[in-house]
Amino acid sequence: MYAPAGVKTNHNEFPIPDTQRAWVLGEPGQLGITTKPIPVPKKAEVLVRIDAVAICATDLEIIYHGPPASIQGGLPFNKNFTPGHEYMGTVVALGPGVDEYKVGQRVAVEIHAGCGQCKRCREGMYTSCHNYGLNYGDVDKGHRANGFTTDGGFCEYQVNNINTLVALADEMTDEEGTLVVTAGTAMYALTELGGLVAGESVCVTGPGPIGLKAVAVAKALGAHPVILTGTRDNRLKIGLELGADAVVNIRKEPDVVAAVKKLNGGKGVDYVVECSAATSAVNDAVRMVNRGGRVCLAAFAHEEVPVDVAHIVRNNIYVYGIRGEGKSATHRAEAFMRQKRFDATKIHTHTFPLDDLPTAIRYAKDRVEDAIKVVVKAKTDAAHKQAAE
Ligand SMILES: [Zn+2]
Ligand SMILES: [Zn+2]
Repeated sequence: MYAPAGVKTNHNEFPIPDTQRAWVLGEPGQLGITTKPIPVPKKAEVLVRIDAVAICATDLEIIYHGPPASIQGGLPFNKNFTPGHEYMGTVVALGPGVDEYKVGQRVAVEIHAGCGQCKRCREGMYTSCHNYGLNYGDVDKGHRANGFTTDGGFCEYQVNNINTLVALADEMTDEEGTLVVTAGTAMYALTELGGLVAGESVCVTGPGPIGLKAVAVAKALGAHPVILTGTRDNRLKIGLELGADAVVNIRKEPDVVAAVKKLNGGKGVDYVVECSAATSAVNDAVRMVNRGGRVCLAAFAHEEVPVDVAHIVRNNIYVYGIRGEGKSATHRAEAFMRQKRFDATKIHTHTFPLDDLPTAIRYAKDRVEDAIKVVVKAKTDAAHKQAAE
């Protein structure tokens, strides 16, 4: 039985096996299921039973190409590495001294636990930790990024620092819980743009999960109007349901800059949140904002993109890049979801069992049946209860 020294458990209600099923990455694009030990939480850590994990476009990048994952300073292939980073679950064991969370508590898990000692971590920018990926050998600074630099969530149990946990409302489903981190990333973008966006005009480019969440969060923060641009009508429609005041299908409106300005009374918008990674997106974004406006880039293009620097300088435009879900933005996002300021579940389209991860990945990658957020679950709630009885 799992009973490491100094670790608190409650085997009657939340039994923990000795081993777990875990997917690991072999060659690019190849996942295999294997057995791994249950990790042991150290000081300031808990063991989380993973109840649900959502597939992100970045998971597909990692599985098929490698970066931005970095395992032991290199590519993540054939290193017994378990990807997956958008998960939620139940706390089932507490490391020494942990009293901030209880066994049985449901939590969403932020991806990044910074080293806690570098300049950026001390500023709350733990997703930009200066010791990123240094968690092995004699350069071990304790940095963790689930599914990027350490094992992630396509398995049954994982350890996580208490700083990365977000307590979930009881009435939130597991699937909704996996979306807290996505909403947190959108919240981080709006935080970096200035935070106080009530009454300000915002354009979100790209209706992927983060873009759709950026619409919802901007609207919940009081922005007006909120305009969403994209190429797929079904996703733009979800944007309207999440609070967009207007949408632009750029297949029908090739001059997207003019279309956005027209929707904003002929003027540029105050903020753009760029979530499309399209090659033309940065130049479109800096032309959509008004003079002195701000652009946050939340998606990364595959190739280097030429940018109209003169336009940015002449118009005093601020351009930000964000990485992940920094500055505790997930807590603010969860608070909006808890208060039902928007219905995050509108972007969840499919759920598969953990054993069917390759099918789930195919749905996410090929957008089968208009898939947006695809979730995998280790066990159904009923099966967990049965296992506990
Ligand atoms: Zn993600
Ligand atoms: Zn750090």
